[in-house]
Amino acid sequence: MTGTMALDAAPAFPPPFLVDLHTDALHEHMCGRKDMTRRTNRGHLDIPRMREGGVNGQIFAVWVSPTELKPGEYCDFALTGADEFDRVCAKCAEYVSSVRTPGELRQATAAGRIAAVLGVEGGHVLEGRLENLDRLFGRGVRVLTVTWCNSNELGDSSSDNSKPHGGLSPLGRQAVRRMNELGMIVDVSHSADRTVFDILDASLAPVIASHSGIRARRDFNRNLTDEELRAIAAHGGAVGVVFLPYFLREPEEQASIEDVIECIDHICQLVGPDHAALGSDFDGFGGKLPELEDVTKMRAIGAGLRRRGFVEGDIAKISGLNFVRVWDAVQARAAT
Ligand SMILES: [Zn+2]
Repeated sequence: MTGTMALDAAPAFPPPFLVDLHTDALHEHMCGRKDMTRRTNRGHLDIPRMREGGVNGQIFAVWVSPTELKPGEYCDFALTGADEFDRVCAKCAEYVSSVRTPGELRQATAAGRIAAVLGVEGGHVLEGRLENLDRLFGRGVRVLTVTWCNSNELGDSSSDNSKPHGGLSPLGRQAVRRMNELGMIVDVSHSADRTVFDILDASLAPVIASHSGIRARRDFNRNLTDEELRAIAAHGGAVGVVFLPYFLREPEEQASIEDVIECIDHICQLVGPDHAALGSDFDGFGGKLPELEDVTKMRAIGAGLRRRGFVEGDIAKISGLNFVRVWDAVQARAAT
């Protein structure tokens, strides 16, 4: 109690710890549309702008296009993404460290560097083979988004009306368990509702939704229902609220940072402050969300929560500590 009061008494300052759960900037970089190591005004995020925004940790997703690439090329592309991720981190070593454990994340941030975590978006990258999970883990991948907009061998996507598996497939269940053993974080964003519940049933560790909206606020299949939020929270997980205007409000032109604050508030009212997080999806969408136009504006979220009466301790949890708690739990589970 005293701890919280002491924090509350502190002047308004940027959250002590700011972690974002999803950006596609690495894909933009890999496609040559931007150089992530240089400051540009292109898109939403690059390393110099992350420093300006006070970001301490970031999950960089390698998005593997299921249509531009062919089966047989998916896993290799993800591994190429891992190489590029390492090159970017090496080039910016003064400011960025690639981290593979929560301990390394703590070390990097304590040293004033951005902790960069590698993820892969889309379970089709496994090409139906669990040994590819081990390959990816060996190359540093610590987060896997089970589906993207396509259903795959592991399970059904929220964006696929055909729902071929009726949720998570038997292979998907094995993949989730293997991720638990390895210490890879399971990401339920993009998964169909049934898939989310099946993942929670299968997983022995908490999960994240790295970039999702709230269906009670905007009725859209990519957004999480209250039932899903309760289930993710009951399993100790965290939900990164997306900044994508279309997921936040209809018409999307009216969306702003206030919608992000509202989504965070919704999660906190429903399941408490231990399960909300930030999941920008920066560079994963066109356009810009007013007042949260790019990563330099990240501190505005803490300021918005503060205005709404959130205490500093809870703002710190939402801004990053909840994610670290989940990763700690995933790591602890793998160690057993
Ligand atoms: Zn996505």
